[in-house]
Amino acid sequence: MKNVQNTIILGAILGVLAGVFAPDYNHVYAFLGKAFITTLKYLVVPLVFSSLITGIISLGSVSMLRQMGGKTLIYFLITTTIAAVLGLTLALVIEPGNGFVMHAAADSAVQSPMSISEMIAQIIPSDFVGFMSGQNMLFLIIVSILIGILIVSFGNHITFPLDEFFEGVNDFMMVVTRWVIAFSPVGIFGLVGQLIVTTGAAAIIPLIKYMGVVLLGLVIYAGIVIPAILLFFVRCSPIAVARDVFPSLMTGFTTASSAAALPILMTDVQKKLKIPNKVASFVLPLGITINMDGTALFQCVATVFIAEIYGVALPFTSLVTIVVIAIFASIGAAAVPSAGIITLAMILSAVGIPIEGTGIIMGVDRLLDMCRTSVNLWSNTAAAGVVTRWCGKNAFEDGGGEFSN
Ligand code: ASP
Repeated sequence: MKNVQNTIILGAILGVLAGVFAPDYNHVYAFLGKAFITTLKYLVVPLVFSSLITGIISLGSVSMLRQMGGKTLIYFLITTTIAAVLGLTLALVIEPGNGFVMHAAADSAVQSPMSISEMIAQIIPSDFVGFMSGQNMLFLIIVSILIGILIVSFGNHITFPLDEFFEGVNDFMMVVTRWVIAFSPVGIFGLVGQLIVTTGAAAIIPLIKYMGVVLLGLVIYAGIVIPAILLFFVRCSPIAVARDVFPSLMTGFTTASSAAALPILMTDVQKKLKIPNKVASFVLPLGITINMDGTALFQCVATVFIAEIYGVALPFTSLVTIVVIAIFASIGAAAVPSAGIITLAMILSAVGIPIEGTGIIMGVDRLLDMCRTSVNLWSNTAAAGVVTRWCGKNAFEDGGGEFSN
């Protein structure tokens, strides 16, 4: 996977060179880019569907769901909302894409933005094809969550192992995603080549600004919001906690995968921070799957940036939609490299922004992915501390319940 990430950067560089020195092949670049984006679109629905269901299944049992599920989910929801609003606000204030204009391809999948009331009215697609096309992601999300809860609640009464079935589908989708990501350097080559031919090298400056805004947001979130949570809700030193989980944050940074860093985070959190095993083995695997604050923050900045360069207006209802769908898009993103940029398509289509806009930012996504992965892990460390506090140490047979610092 690391090689693919390096090849993605190579694909972007070759795309710039091809766009500058061989603009006559623009039709080839356009074809490669379109093939890639279309494949991504097909991936989103089954990926989000299976990832959400298995996320809920990992709650384990109804009693676990009752004991820790509610508290954990509330924490996840609040922190992801804070991250999404922070990203959105920074992007709206700094306007990284302002002054740079792109035109959507004539056949691009732009839908007119839906107001919240329209969304509620259209929440149920008229047929199965509508459901599978992912045109109403909100419905997909609700159905996935309900199926997950039903399996956890009634799984024992059904002879067919539904949990294993969905876990299998999820594993399969991860494999397919890896294939698509393996193809991504070629797709990115095409998208960047096409971008340079149609816009010239002027695209580079707004991209640098965009990266700056995402990084600023991540620094504020990781350096102020999470430490404040640790100080006020867990009553421990954020610096000491950061030192203890540093190996896992670095693993997340270098692999751009929360899943890859999970085993190290589990060990650090239990051994060094003295989080009870019950909390760690519940909150962390669930958290790396559905609590992706860095990803939600990045998705909001990316959405505003792409809207700006395509000249798509974002009224207040669209802003609310962006935050709501970003929460679910980050939940639906798998804990692997580039997952957040795939589910970004959910947000773009919900507010009427051309999905091909993802191609513009893909070439620079590697560094951002590394940073947001560490932030995702950092936030989940705090989640383990907060849930431990909220549940009180008596709630756990194996004792503990307090950060050692
Ligand atoms: N790579 C991130 C993670 O594993 C997900 C993302 O692409 O935002 O946490």
